[in-house]
Amino acid sequence: MSISLKKIVSVLNASWLGLKNETEIENISIDSRSLQNSPSTLFFAIVGANNDAHNYIEDLISIGVQNFVVQYVPEGLEEKANFILVQNSLKALQQFAVFYRNKFEFPVIGLTGSNGKTIVKEWLNFLLSPDFNVIRSPKSYNSQVGVPLSIVAINEKHNLGIFEAGISTTAEMQHLEKVIQPTIGVLTNIGSSHDEGFASIEEKIQEKLQLFDHAEILIYQKNKLVDPFIKPSSKTFSWSFEDQNADVYIYNKEIVNLETVIYYNYGGAKSHFKIPFVDRASIENAISCMMVLLYLKYDSAIIQARMGLLFPVEMRLKVKNGINNCTLVDDSYSSDFQSLKIALDFLESQKQFQNKTVILSDIFQSGLVNEELYERVSQLIISNNVNRVIGIGDTISDFKDKFANCITYNNTAEFIADFEHIDFSNETILVKGARSFQFEEIVALLEEKTHETVLEINLNAISYNLNFFKSKLKPGVKIMVMVKAFGYGNGGLEIANLLEHHNVDYLGVAFADEGISLKHGGIKTPIMVLNPENTSFGAIIQHQLEPEIYCLKGLHAFLKIAKQKNLKDFPIHIKIDTGMHRLGFEVDTIPELIATLKGNNTVKVKSILSHLATSDDPLQRDFAVSQINLFEELSSQIVRELAINPIRHILNTSGISNFPDNQFNMVRLGIGLYGVSNDPKEQKYLETVGTLKSVISQVRVIQAGESVGYGRKFVANRVTRVATIPIGYADGISRGLGNGVGYINVKDQKARILGNVCMDMIMVDVTEIDCTEGDSVIVFGDKPTVSYIAKKLNTIPYEILTSISQRVKRVFYR
Ligand SMILES: *Cc1c(COP(=O)(O)O)cnc(C)c1O
Repeated sequence: MSISLKKIVSVLNASWLGLKNETEIENISIDSRSLQNSPSTLFFAIVGANNDAHNYIEDLISIGVQNFVVQYVPEGLEEKANFILVQNSLKALQQFAVFYRNKFEFPVIGLTGSNGKTIVKEWLNFLLSPDFNVIRSPKSYNSQVGVPLSIVAINEKHNLGIFEAGISTTAEMQHLEKVIQPTIGVLTNIGSSHDEGFASIEEKIQEKLQLFDHAEILIYQKNKLVDPFIKPSSKTFSWSFEDQNADVYIYNKEIVNLETVIYYNYGGAKSHFKIPFVDRASIENAISCMMVLLYLKYDSAIIQARMGLLFPVEMRLKVKNGINNCTLVDDSYSSDFQSLKIALDFLESQKQFQNKTVILSDIFQSGLVNEELYERVSQLIISNNVNRVIGIGDTISDFKDKFANCITYNNTAEFIADFEHIDFSNETILVKGARSFQFEEIVALLEEKTHETVLEINLNAISYNLNFFKSKLKPGVKIMVMVKAFGYGNGGLEIANLLEHHNVDYLGVAFADEGISLKHGGIKTPIMVLNPENTSFGAIIQHQLEPEIYCLKGLHAFLKIAKQKNLKDFPIHIKIDTGMHRLGFEVDTIPELIATLKGNNTVKVKSILSHLATSDDPLQRDFAVSQINLFEELSSQIVRELAINPIRHILNTSGISNFPDNQFNMVRLGIGLYGVSNDPKEQKYLETVGTLKSVISQVRVIQAGESVGYGRKFVANRVTRVATIPIGYADGISRGLGNGVGYINVKDQKARILGNVCMDMIMVDVTEIDCTEGDSVIVFGDKPTVSYIAKKLNTIPYEILTSISQRVKRVFYR
């Protein structure tokens, strides 16, 4: 892209408040944290429900970004950069994308539907890439923001586009339609449920179909629900399993081993193809792809050959623990320029280590000539501060000189042969390669070897939950997130990294050593230590942690050390006991607290806090109110008499939900971030963060009268299939779940726990479930939920989450 600012101002019909509008814009950004921002970036400052990007403009200017689309010019920045003033930055981004889209004339496939969009997109890309220079949306960039960002990545060399559009409510598709302007429309599986955000399934269908309003053809599965809403003027190309009047009639499908043969009749001619999948969704997705190939006049021999090579689509970047204390970012299934940019941004958000290595295969489908492509890749690598590049493939080897610290191999096998001579330690490694390079073998070598039980942590769900609670805060109210006990068992540093990425104001830990390990991990966000022991004050000061001080004895001890070290204004947090009776200054010690702090400048009261005992219990609301009132009174007294202006805070997760008027200056979010609410109504709005997964080690059949496990506590009364799972009470599975109390999820069905829970294993009943050794199972996640298990065990979700032992590997993904 190379477009003058002047042109953009006129395209957006905007006011210009700038210095020089001769600048050429080379790329578009909305992410203030991306290291790819540069003087030729145009930054759209988007105002979201929880985040106003205008707040980052000052920082961006300081690193050299000069061009901004804004809704207002932040105070003090006038004349410091070029500003294009618009009513709504998101709308402006879409408007710009429409303008940009109109510069290109090639066929564009637009996909929407409830399921399958991303898979169909990736498959079509694979099927069509031998014949076209394809530009497609990266990952699942299909939103109001993601679609325009996908479109502006088109360049002169592309000659086919594939873009997906996702919507969550009405009046959204019309915008995406204008941006994508599909010539070929594909409606994937529409689903039978009506999603939140739509009044009915009919409304959802009507809205989705708007994507195809101007397409030359609509490809879809004939369907009684959809048909009535297709405009008579629309040309369609339909398929069906049942309806012989469809353009393509699927008259048979046959499952053999792990493959499905699909037989179809098109224009009177019979033909078939085979795919390496057997599930219904894959079959439908494959047929959608075949329809596009038929429409583009591919012959059946090519269709047969290419469909047979379809593969499972890996849609997410995975973060894994690597050998020698490395962190791996596994993106081993694609290598195109757009997704490289995304992966590098993601790599930047992983702050565990200074050192970064990228293992990169040849890059396909950039639309650029190689010389220019690898020049651009090299610039990306430089701007992301990558220390080392390991290039694998003939082409990247030819361009080795473009990279500063680079070794290359002609193919994956050569790299593997040399593996033990390469040093990988204490660094973050991005593994990114095209499918054909089989980088999964490299990931297997680099991955830390542990047993098969893992706790998968969905980082997107954490972001989502954070934003959900942030949206409940009044303007200006800060947020502290509790990451004590390894982030409630979910992972300490990884989650702290993400929270820092989201600019939370404070992190909270229970003990000094938790805070120290976060500091060692590079966390810069201020950290409050809830429960500092006097013996740890030295370490707290050394590592710039901020102690909560909760009694006179602790205060005097801390002041003594602070004085010895000649500290000035060292931040501390004062906790008052308003009724919880756990930690905190009691009412009658407040005068002495004030007297001690008066005129003392070794420390500075950063905040005053208290903690509610009954915020989750509507029946004990009065007690919480009395605590809040006492807190208001005591904290005001301290503020007044010391003439200070600290942050005041009392609400935890259920406090945020139940006492919206008492947020003071900050709230302390804990369990809610991890996707658990004490309120079933609110639970619906949260996303599951942790999924505890394991596998089936062995399956056996026992006869009626035979028993299972220690003490023979389960005796079969019929022929029973028993599966053994390698997870037990040493991993945090309570013995209380044994003997039929709990179940696990096998293939989406309940498998009761049989007999006693062992130290490292459980046995479950899979008599009615079609499963085999090696199959994955879910111990908790969406089903059963942590809350369900807690209820069965007469405890609370907090205990279940924090009991998962550290020997269970945590895998983070988004
Ligand atoms: C743990 C903790 C929180 C967070 O509580 P949740 O119920 O998990 O939101 C807040 N404040 C203090 C003092 C805590 O110890």
